[in-house]
Amino acid sequence: MEKRLYIKTFGCQMNVHDSARIAEIMGANGYVLWDDPKTADVALVNSCTVREKAWHKAISEAGRLRKHKSPRRRIVVGIVGCVAQQEGERVFRLVPGVDLVVAPDHYRELPRLVDEVLDEGVERALTGFDGGAEGDFLGAAPGIGSGQATAFVTVMKGCQERCAYCIVPTVRGPERHRPSGDIVDEVGNLVSAGVREVTLLGQKVNAYRREDEEFVSLLERLDAIEGLWRLRFTSPHPRHMTEPLTAAYGRLGTLCESIHLPVQSGSDRTLARMGRRYTSGFYRDVVRRLREARPDIAISTDLIVGYPGETGDDFADTLGLIDDVGFCAAFSFKYSPRPGTRAAGLEDDVSDEEKARRLSLVHERVEALERAHRGSMVGRTLEVLVEHVARMPGQIGGRARNGQIVNFVPDRGSFEELAGTLVDVEITEAHPHSLEGRVAP
Ligand code: SAH
Ligand code: SF4
Repeated sequence: MEKRLYIKTFGCQMNVHDSARIAEIMGANGYVLWDDPKTADVALVNSCTVREKAWHKAISEAGRLRKHKSPRRRIVVGIVGCVAQQEGERVFRLVPGVDLVVAPDHYRELPRLVDEVLDEGVERALTGFDGGAEGDFLGAAPGIGSGQATAFVTVMKGCQERCAYCIVPTVRGPERHRPSGDIVDEVGNLVSAGVREVTLLGQKVNAYRREDEEFVSLLERLDAIEGLWRLRFTSPHPRHMTEPLTAAYGRLGTLCESIHLPVQSGSDRTLARMGRRYTSGFYRDVVRRLREARPDIAISTDLIVGYPGETGDDFADTLGLIDDVGFCAAFSFKYSPRPGTRAAGLEDDVSDEEKARRLSLVHERVEALERAHRGSMVGRTLEVLVEHVARMPGQIGGRARNGQIVNFVPDRGSFEELAGTLVDVEITEAHPHSLEGRVAP
C-alpha cells in the first residue's frame, strides 16, 4: 500500500531543493507526497535556523504536527534541516512527540530511520556531517527532472566563511566542493529529462573550486550543454565576484541577467565587524563591472539592520548604498543573535524598536525601487519560460530571464502543451509581485 509523506518547508532555496530530494528518496521507498498532515504516515518539517524567527517557526510547526497523532493513527513526526543539526536530540525534550531528527547530510537514511521508529517504537536522531570532499550532494537520479522545466543543482555544501553573525557554518558544516564531472553529468541528465533552466546552489557558490575547475570554467562547461537555455546561481559572495566572473555575464549566453548578491550593509565599519571581508566600495565596483558586462542585469540583495554597534551613520550608509546601486529587490532582516556565533558575544545594543524603524525605512526604499524596476518593464518584450498556471483564470506564466514573474493569456495551446517552452511576452502591466502581458506579435 502506498505510504503518505507530508513535508513543510521553510527557508532558502537549498531547503526547497532538499525537500524535493527527500520526496524522491522516500518515493523510491513507496511514499507519495501528501498535502494533509492529518492523514499522512510521515510528517516532516524542513526548516532553517538562520534567524531566531525561523527556529521558532520550525519548533512550533513540529508542535502542531505531533497533535495529529492519535491512538488510532500512527504518524511519524520528524524535524530535518538546519534546526535538526542545531538541536539534535534536544528536540525530543523541546517538542515531546517528535520521533525523528535528521540533519541534511543524512537524508538518504530517512527511509531506514522511519522504519526503525515504526518497528521499534523508539526515537531516532542522526546529525553531524559526512566527511571528506566526496560527500553526498543529493544529486537527482538520471531520468528525474521532477517534471519541471527548472531545477536546482548543488555544487558545494557547508561554509567556512564564518561571517560573525551567521550560524550556517555550524549547522551546514565544513565546505565540501563537488567533483565537477558529477555536476556536469547531473545537469546533462536533467536537461535530457526536459529541464531547461538550472540554478546552481551553494552558500558561497562562486567560491567553487575543485582541482583545476574554478567557478567560471564550470559555468563555461555548463553553458555548452545542448538544450540548457538558462543558468543561474545562488548565493554568490561579493568577495568572490572576480573580474572573469563578472565578464562572463557578457559572454555566456545561458547566464541570466539577474543576480542575487547579498551585501548585508553599506557601512565599511559594519562590514568589517561582520567579517564580510569586502568594503562597500568593492561592492560598488562589482556592480559597475556587472553592468558593464550586462547593462540590463537585475541586482537584488540581502540586508541586515541593527547589527551590534550599528550607528545612525552606519545605517545611513546602508540607505545610501541601496539608492546608489538601485537594487531591484532585497530581503532585509533585523539582526538576531545566533548561538555559537562570534556576534552572539557582542552586546545586541540596537533596540528592537530601532531595528523595526530601520527595517521599515529599508522596506520603503526597496519597495520604491522595486516598483520603478517593474514599471520600467512595461512596453518591453520579455522571454518567458512557462512554468505555472496563474491565479487569474485563463492565464499561465513563468519567469523572465531577469527573474520577474510574468503572467499572460496564451494565444494557442494549453498549459500542458506550453509548459517548458519559451514565449515572448510584451509587458502591459506591472503588479506588486508580478508582471502581466500579452503574447508578442
Ligand atoms: N550564504 C549567503 C547567506 C545565507 S543566510 C551569503 O553569504 O550571502 C541568508 C541571509 O540571512 C543572509 O544573507 C543574511 O542577510 C541573513 N542572516 C544570516 N544570519 C543572520 C542573523 N544572525 N540575523 C539576521 N539576519 C541574518
Ligand atoms: Fe553565512 Fe557568511 Fe557563509 Fe553566507 S558566507 S553562509 S553569511 S558564513
